[in-house]
Amino acid sequence: MRRPLVAGNWKMNGLAASIVELDLMIKDCPATLAARIDLLVCPPFTLIEEFAAAAAGSSVMIGAQDCHPKPSGAHTGDISAEMLKDSGARAVIVGHSERRADHGEQDALVRAKAEAARRAGLIAIICVGETLAEREAGRTLEVVGRQLSGSVPDGATGEEVVIAYEPVWAIGTGKTPTVADIAEVHGLIRRELSARFGEAAGQSIRVLYGGSVKPENARTLLQAQDVDGALVGGASLKARDFLAIAEAYL
Ligand code: PEP
Repeated sequence: MRRPLVAGNWKMNGLAASIVELDLMIKDCPATLAARIDLLVCPPFTLIEEFAAAAAGSSVMIGAQDCHPKPSGAHTGDISAEMLKDSGARAVIVGHSERRADHGEQDALVRAKAEAARRAGLIAIICVGETLAEREAGRTLEVVGRQLSGSVPDGATGEEVVIAYEPVWAIGTGKTPTVADIAEVHGLIRRELSARFGEAAGQSIRVLYGGSVKPENARTLLQAQDVDGALVGGASLKARDFLAIAEAYL
């Protein structure tokens, strides 16, 4: 049985005062929910250490939104997976479509970042997803399949890797695919993982859905076949909304 994961991606949002939202998430998370699912909040780099200290021993894990593939060196402005681990992060998102678009990140680099996460002892949340043009051209499965094979490292297991299927056109737009569309892509991802890593490892890897998940649609989207949780952007900034999404699992 895969344990659901509801992860929040705060993107470039949050100042020191935002810790009040994390405190509320920790305080208001029902024990019955914490017993059933994993909760992860990925604030900007600047808040990781403080958030990790505040969340220590609670039901909320803290993660990061990106890392450099190398452990250290002359890479001005970059942060390594080892530094994230040292700051108290437990996971890192890699290959988010905003990084693929804004920084030209390709599958090989995403894979190197996922390998860096493994080296540092972090869970890598590897994002894949098609653009609107690719969906309209009927290329969704081809694109997601290619990103998956190029971005996921050899020997992946559910202990260290999570996949997030995030249609680019659904991120921050309020638009979502149908449950049938999500199930089709998640089914492909599950088959590809099992074919590449073997049935046991392939079945152990969680596959999240991401893209305009809100309290109003969470129950529907998270009940789609083969969906093991959500990667949430905008709605993860407020404790009330983030917990309301997670409560789809109550
Ligand atoms: C995201 O950026 O990963 C995301 C899913 O954003 P939103 O929930 O705001 O669509």
